[in-house]
Amino acid sequence: MQTLKIPVEQLREGPIEIEVDMDPRELELEDEDYRFTGRVRGNLVFSIVGQDVFAAGNLSVPVEGKCVRCLEPASTEVETPVNETWIRGAGPQETPEASDIEAIVNTYVGDFIEPAGVMRELILATLPDRLYCREDCAGLCPGCGANLNNEPCRCAPEKREEISGSTANADWKQKLKGLNQK
Ligand SMILES: [Zn+2]
Ligand SMILES: [Zn+2]
Repeated sequence: MQTLKIPVEQLREGPIEIEVDMDPRELELEDEDYRFTGRVRGNLVFSIVGQDVFAAGNLSVPVEGKCVRCLEPASTEVETPVNETWIRGAGPQETPEASDIEAIVNTYVGDFIEPAGVMRELILATLPDRLYCREDCAGLCPGCGANLNNEPCRCAPEKREEISGSTANADWKQKLKGLNQK
């Protein structure tokens, strides 16, 4: 992982602005459902109040996954707002109380903030739950599996009616036909 280091003491002279332009691999970005197809870009401003370091800004990265309706490739730009706090940690011998705090904010030890791990977690947390190739994707026919965006359903007409949920209606018509014939 590329070490992005923010010198804490230097922050006392004023905020440090970082122009982010990183390869997803430098942040070890990996996900089961998504491929990171471009660079992570954005802008982060680090500042310090007392011993607490703050980072505010935005990150964005293009991803590709599968459309949940038609299973074809779909892509989007993941936008990740950053609003993080680091408090000075007590080092390796942290008390249990300190690690409770760690669950809410980040801790740092020494003279530098290394935000890469936090950036990674934030990006992974903002990946979309589901992706569509386009808003009105027609999806796959549950009967024949045809991709209804670019091919017609190949189901037999009876089967097609069954799938569209008109089975009851068809039965009723059938019965009526029977009555008329008597
Ligand atoms: Zn689709
Ligand atoms: Zn079909």
